[in-house]
Amino acid sequence: MPVLTPAELWEKTGRDYPEIFRLEDRTGRNFVLPMTHEETVTFHAREIQSYRQLPQILYHFSIKDRDEPRPRGGLLRVREFIMKDSYSFDRDEEGLSRSFELHRQAYHRIFERCGLEFYEVAAEPGIMGGRESQGFLCPSGSGENTLVTCERGDYAADIEIARGVPRVPDFPERREAPEKVETPGVTTIEALAELLGVDAAATSKAMPVVKTDGTLVLGLVRGDDRLSESKMLGVLGSGFRPATDDEIRNTFGADGGSLGPVGVSVEVVADELLRDGQYVTGANRDGWHLLGVEAGRDYEARFEDIREPREGDVCPECEGRLHFQTAIEVGHIFKFGTRYSKPLEATFLDEDGKEKSLVGGSYGIGPGRVMATAVEQGHDENGIVWPRAIAPYDVHVISLDAGSDEVRAIAESVAASLDEAGDDVLLDDRDQRPGEKFADADLMGCPLRVTVGKKSLEDGAVDVRERAATGDERVRASDVVKWAVER
Ligand SMILES: [Zn+2]
Repeated sequence: MPVLTPAELWEKTGRDYPEIFRLEDRTGRNFVLPMTHEETVTFHAREIQSYRQLPQILYHFSIKDRDEPRPRGGLLRVREFIMKDSYSFDRDEEGLSRSFELHRQAYHRIFERCGLEFYEVAAEPGIMGGRESQGFLCPSGSGENTLVTCERGDYAADIEIARGVPRVPDFPERREAPEKVETPGVTTIEALAELLGVDAAATSKAMPVVKTDGTLVLGLVRGDDRLSESKMLGVLGSGFRPATDDEIRNTFGADGGSLGPVGVSVEVVADELLRDGQYVTGANRDGWHLLGVEAGRDYEARFEDIREPREGDVCPECEGRLHFQTAIEVGHIFKFGTRYSKPLEATFLDEDGKEKSLVGGSYGIGPGRVMATAVEQGHDENGIVWPRAIAPYDVHVISLDAGSDEVRAIAESVAASLDEAGDDVLLDDRDQRPGEKFADADLMGCPLRVTVGKKSLEDGAVDVRERAATGDERVRASDVVKWAVER
């Protein structure tokens, strides 16, 4: 698939994201450098004419680009990277489910063979716009995702959609109607809770946001919670930004610190925790709050799960506690149905003679991320410890005593026989001190190491070791291939 893609395809599907590189050729025609190929592949899938040609799965390894807002070095947050992505096309939802399941199982086998510790989790489709998606997250010292797992092992999710059950607030006595209370100069939940002597969890926090179409919406979460941007994005079905001070004053007649859901003219999207119980809210008047505000009685709202879960919340499946870990996402699979085939008019003639839209899914693995994860999860203080399946070289052969013809000849012949046996071999025949060579070998982390030197050769032997183990073994030079094959 080409990297340079006509922007028309993206205009047809209406995907428009700030992370997409855009450019113009000399005639003014627009192009994109996409980070994913649904448009391109679906466009070509228009070649499919009949149900008899289905299902189909197309895949490629390709360069992708992404206008990453905060690019970094290394292999994680980069602007250009290689992806394995595949795309399935089926007649119907049932077929899609089968293609999705095949990928899911294949991804498990791939990540197991790569030696990674990983979790398959429910994930936020994000810009892919799918209905159902699963991510593959690997706990790691660095990473951009947060993996939420239950201590009892029955729940795992990306924080973007994870659900947690927080403690029940310590509610004050119930009121028959909201009661105004003066709260001069109070702008934070902590200060509010302290002044009124109430539990912060029995207060609410209002977050006015503006959708891309300009509509202002009031988000409402419990005082001790944070609004989850990803969940809000899913609920609103549109990008959004925080409202400006002017927009807030014009709409509510008060500053941001005194907002609440009672008597407002805008849509209120409230976290479902707020459905029951009475909460302290802003009074939409500077320096005032309301006590005893009750959903349904005092205001109407659309109730959705929009809170960000917190460490220590209770698992949605059991009584266990939720645990948070930094993680790297190495793969993601999506069911997108007719999301792309409809706008791109990728249809086929079904058995009943009717023209139907192809039903699709897409599936991606980031090889660079797999490597980064292997390094993060497998290193020790001396360097990388590559899993055999993805090591750049299987065997690192070190030739000591560069001046000795015998040593060099044996090292070269050992390397040649390993190569012949199918291993990828790195031969270090540099004229350097042994300590340096050993340190470099540890740093590079090839799974197996063979050291050829004068000393061991006196017995016709060489020293071998596995990178993950400590200590050398001595084997006959003629047995090195056998030793390597057994590992
Ligand atoms: Zn649980």
